[in-house]
Amino acid sequence: MSIAENLQKIQSTLPEEVRLVAVSKTKPNSDLEEAYAAGQRIFGENKVQELAGKHEALPKDIEWHMIGHLQRNKVKYIAPFVALIHGVDSGRLLAEINKQAVKNDRIIDVLLQVHIADEETKFGFDEEELTDFIQGPVFLAMKNVRVVGLMGMATYTSDQEQIRSEFASLSDLFQRLKANNFQYADYFKEISMGMSGDYPIAIEEGSTLVRVGSAIFGSRNYG
Ligand SMILES: *Cc1c(COP(=O)(O)O)cnc(C)c1O
Repeated sequence: MSIAENLQKIQSTLPEEVRLVAVSKTKPNSDLEEAYAAGQRIFGENKVQELAGKHEALPKDIEWHMIGHLQRNKVKYIAPFVALIHGVDSGRLLAEINKQAVKNDRIIDVLLQVHIADEETKFGFDEEELTDFIQGPVFLAMKNVRVVGLMGMATYTSDQEQIRSEFASLSDLFQRLKANNFQYADYFKEISMGMSGDYPIAIEEGSTLVRVGSAIFGSRNYG
């Protein structure tokens, strides 16, 4: 199937309130152009240099999402244009994003990454760290970042019930934060979870942003 057909097939299964992030990492610009021609406007990349290069080369109405682990010293390269940073996993990274947002005279939307997987290697806050952090003075002083929601990655496993319960735990945390910490923030509304292999489960558990790569563009050789 073509990229356009894959997109159409996936889009037809998404509820209206769920947005599709087309994860185009490692893929050539021609693949992104094909998706763009089919109407796709949100693209996700996980490497700063690749993201900046594609932003430079492709149409300016694309909404670029940074979905991978972001190093503090590279925030400056994407701060002028990035629409959403999904994987903010530390206060120091958020402080750097705030600083670069000030320099660029803009407000940058971010998602805080929560560790939901049963794996040591995944980045992210745990619940206690996260609630402490968002109540602290450092967080409250940052005026140029806007936390619009949470992001999580399930364990890499074939156990569907485990994946479902990890996604459910992220949704549950989101609801509690919304009720207790972000109750007046109508922008706090995104839950980024679900990839090619598990996005239908993620949607059932409340995802608002699915990050789908290989099911659109085919498998990757690397990345
Ligand atoms: C690569 C990647 C995806 C997409 O993975 P697929 O399995 O190809 O859909 C989603 N989220 C993150 C953070 C990624 O790095």
